[in-house]
Parts: sequence; C-alpha cells; structure tokens
Amino acid sequence: MVCAHHHLYSALARGMPAPPRTPTGFLEILELVWWRLDRALDLDIIEWSAKLGALEALESGTTAIIDHHESPNAIEGSLDVIAAACAEVGVRADCSYGVTDRHGAAGARAGLAENDRFLRSGGRGHVGVHAAFTCSEDTLQAAAGLAADHGTGVHIHVAEGSADRAAGERLATLARDDWLLVHAVHLDRDLPGTIIHNPRSNMNNAVGYAMPAARPNPVALGSDGIGAAMVEEFQLAYARHREDDVTATPETAWSWLETGWRLFPEAAHDTVIWNCGRLDAWSLAFTTGVKAQDVTVDGEVVLRDGRPTRVDGDEIRTKAAEAAARLFAKLEDMP
Ligand SMILES: [Zn+2]
Repeated sequence: MVCAHHHLYSALARGMPAPPRTPTGFLEILELVWWRLDRALDLDIIEWSAKLGALEALESGTTAIIDHHESPNAIEGSLDVIAAACAEVGVRADCSYGVTDRHGAAGARAGLAENDRFLRSGGRGHVGVHAAFTCSEDTLQAAAGLAADHGTGVHIHVAEGSADRAAGERLATLARDDWLLVHAVHLDRDLPGTIIHNPRSNMNNAVGYAMPAARPNPVALGSDGIGAAMVEEFQLAYARHREDDVTATPETAWSWLETGWRLFPEAAHDTVIWNCGRLDAWSLAFTTGVKAQDVTVDGEVVLRDGRPTRVDGDEIRTKAAEAAARLFAKLEDMP
C-alpha cells in the first residue's frame, strides 16, 4: 500500500492538549490546532513522530509514504530527519517541506531552501507548498520553478476548505501533470495533476465531499496524517462514495489505491501477507480489522508476525511517548 499524502509530524498529536477554544470551521482548525502544533516541533520530536508513524504504516501494510512536512521553528534538516527515520524502520518515503508565507518571506525562503537542499542531496521527494491561500504569487512561482528544476512535481493542499477557493485560478498556469493536488474539495476547475483524496480527514474537518470520481484526474488515497492504514482509507473512501451515490462500487476506491503505485512504482514490488483471506475490492470493503502480518520491502522482511525486524517497536513507542509529553508541555505554554 502507498499512503499518497501523510503528515508524519502529526503522529504524536493524538491526545494533545485541547486548543484555547473550540474551532468553529476549517480555518480555525488550522489556526488553533495544526499551526500551533507545527510551531512546537523540534528535530527530536520530528524524529520520534516519524519513527512512530513509519512503524504504524508497516503494521498496516503500507510500505511507501508521501509525506508533507512543516516545522517553522526547525526547518533546516527536517526532511533528512524524516527520511532517515523511515529508512531505519524500513518504509519508503517521499519527502517535501510545505512552503508558506505565514511566517513572512524569510520563512518561505527557508522552506524553499529545505526542499532544494534535500532534493539536491539526492533525497526522494516533491517540492512542498502548504496551500495557495497562505502563499504569495512569488512563492508559488518559485516553488513551481524549483520543482521543475529538480524534475519533480509540487505537493500542495488545494481548495481543502472554502478559504482556499481561489486556488484553481491561482494555480491554473502553474500546475503540471506531476503535481499532487491534495483534497480538491472546493476546486472550481480542473487542474493537471493527481488528486489525493483523504476521506477521513475531510469528514473530520467538515469540509465537504470532494467527489473525486467526478474529476478527470488520476485519484490516489492519503491519510492526511491520521495513520497510514490504507485499507481503512479505502473502506472510508468507498463508504463516502456510496453515501453520495448508491450505485457506486468499491472497485472505484480500489482503483484509487492502485494509483498509489503509479506515484511510488517501487512499492508495487513489495509484498504483504494480510491477516484476512480474500483481498478483492468487494470483500475488503466489508472486512474490518485487516492488519499486515509479514511485510517485505525491496526483498527484505521488515515485519514478521506483526513485529518490526529492523527496530525495537516497544522502544519506539516509549521514546515517542516521551517526545509527545514534551510536545504537549510546549503546547500548554503556548499563548
Ligand atoms: Zn494534509
């Protein structure tokens, strides 16, 4: 399985302190939850968050993660930390730093520089952009140009909420076929690129149904940071599709899983032995509790009998819990 849109930095967010007040919409969820969390990240927290996220991906039979990262107070080197954490656990990773002007032009430049540094050093990745609505024209153009220079695409949230309704117009002349267009719920026109559908996240943020089947684009599935259990995302994508159209079949959501292998072709050769018998789309849509038992990545067994072979899973969970406690303390102190 391929998770085509993840935020490994949010693996420690579960159980985090409540925001200062209850968010009343998508923009406030960003402002009061995620933009406070990303400001509290340091490289140590990022490392244990990524290791926990990578471990949970393997346990879910996901061997490739396309990650989108933001840590405005720890930008330089952050993509190396994530790539190394995934490599240690044995999961394939494609990294990007989400560039934004939320922290001024210098912050945007630092984000672009981190993407450039990582790709220049041979890292596998995209050029990340948070979203059009938090970026200036100059920043969007610089990101598009940097991606083209590196022969890769831009990985960007697109019209996730109504606050980003102008994304279609602003990206119309920039987007290309190798871009990853994440969400596309409120996108007012078709853009070139692969649409990444994140059904659980979209429901959780109450942004509406993206109706990906109505788009001409290839569609892949992501978790948007809520684990990397792609069988579950497939089941949610099917249920959400069916809720909108009672004639929908699970083969459509299954094809969205298969698109992941176009984005991460190496993963198509990995093998997973599951704890359930039948794996056709109709059976899997109605089978709960599906887990991976044995996982082989690039010929190496990295999960055996549900346990990681390269790392100590208990140690990762213990260290991740310690890092989470530190993260939560920083959030409690944040105005
Ligand atoms: Zn996202």
